[in-house]
Amino acid sequence: MTAAHTRAGAAAPMRFVDPRHFKANSREAVDDAQLRSSFRSAMDFLQARRASHFGDAAAFEALRRVGESIRRYSLAKLPELLEQLEARLVERGVQVHWAQTPAQANAIFLALARRHGATRMVKGKSMVSEEIELNHRMAEHGIECLETDMGEYIVQLAGERPSHIIMPAIHKTRQQIGALFADELRDTPYTDDVDTLIAIGRRVLRSEFRDAAIGVSGVNFMVAETGTLVLVENEGNGRMCTTVPDVHVAITGIEKVVERFEHVLPLFALLTRSATGQAVTTYFNAITGPRRAGELDGPSEVHLILLDNGRSQAWRDDDFRPTLQCIRCGACMNHCPVYARIGGLAYGTTYPGPIGSIVSPHLLGLDPTRDLPTASSLCGACAEVCPVGIPIPDLLMQLRRAAKHDAAPGHAPLAGQASAKDWREALAWRLWAWLNEHPAWYRLAVALGRRLRALTPPWQGGWTAHRKPLRLAACGLRERMRAAERRESAPARVD
Ligand code: SF4
Repeated sequence: MTAAHTRAGAAAPMRFVDPRHFKANSREAVDDAQLRSSFRSAMDFLQARRASHFGDAAAFEALRRVGESIRRYSLAKLPELLEQLEARLVERGVQVHWAQTPAQANAIFLALARRHGATRMVKGKSMVSEEIELNHRMAEHGIECLETDMGEYIVQLAGERPSHIIMPAIHKTRQQIGALFADELRDTPYTDDVDTLIAIGRRVLRSEFRDAAIGVSGVNFMVAETGTLVLVENEGNGRMCTTVPDVHVAITGIEKVVERFEHVLPLFALLTRSATGQAVTTYFNAITGPRRAGELDGPSEVHLILLDNGRSQAWRDDDFRPTLQCIRCGACMNHCPVYARIGGLAYGTTYPGPIGSIVSPHLLGLDPTRDLPTASSLCGACAEVCPVGIPIPDLLMQLRRAAKHDAAPGHAPLAGQASAKDWREALAWRLWAWLNEHPAWYRLAVALGRRLRALTPPWQGGWTAHRKPLRLAACGLRERMRAAERRESAPARVD
């Protein structure tokens, strides 16, 4: 954080940064009453906003079918579209870089920063830059990356990760943000007035755009036919990052390409309504290259870094390819009962919630992320709201299977395939299968199990320890069941 406007305070240590600790993180998050209440009210708000735009279920379904078919079509032609995109961009003067891994992407950033003598970059919101941990990697080389999206700026100031892909600081209350600004920013008295807090952030960030040599942004969609990078946003910081510094570096995943500009419009309509319940965003940026001769504004260099980082693995496998249809709207998170209770930080990954649980195993491998696909009740709410028809519960089930079992013959194994394999569990299932094939032994095992239940130690009765048997009389269920029985046994009436 820039010493010019911050106090010399150490940033808070980052919580919840490892998906291996997901279960412990979740327990800690569930015990945090403040966190749960912040998320509950934020999710209710976002659900209501989305619902206000998709009141007509048939219209939503029709638009969703269009969005899904565009994403499927684009992925089916992915290699071809990426080549076309690169050719168009190069024609327009954009320098295209390919990165297989986060390390390669960071090396490209570092080389560009060194070539331009940059010690500071200003950054618009980009989840892919979070994925490669750009800020931390650049800081190791003395280069500061300053977040300019207000939510990202707040979490950077707090030394945290974003907890939501659209609203990074959604876990923070305005009182916490007021205290953070008062602690970290020079000459800033405490306030919890939202407009004043935004004005403070704007004042601090304004001069940074002017002074930075490099502006960094993400990309929402790339159009192969025209060589256009589309960036949508509400705060205007994205436009500042992509136009004020002399060099603009965009980074995105390889899956974001579509063939034609007309493909962007239905996806844009689905994205804004699903993400923040807006018909349109305040800014729609279509970037087509560096400043041309005679133009006064814009960067003199534009670079695009296309990151793979496990996406090819998902693309190659027909079962997992739908994962890449995602347009990063966050609706699945907003409607997930697990995410609403534990928040985004507990996942320990860049992408939390249902989308994180299906994409992170490809980005990081199944070994460290094996618990994430189990963080779902499989209620299906995520698939119901997904604007591009991703079958999230099916993908979760496939990942659970892949974590426990070797790849099927003829299938390439995923990174970390079968890393959660447990011989005791495998043995138990084989025994279960055998019992089901031998009814006499099955009945004997059930009878034994009933008798031995009394021996269950109290600390192992987890599921029943916190539940009382349903009192049928108390909820009137017994009467309703009896009435139903009487109705069923009564002869049909003939008039
Ligand atoms: S999986 Fe679907 S609902 Fe979730 S972020 Fe992606 S597009 Fe949105």
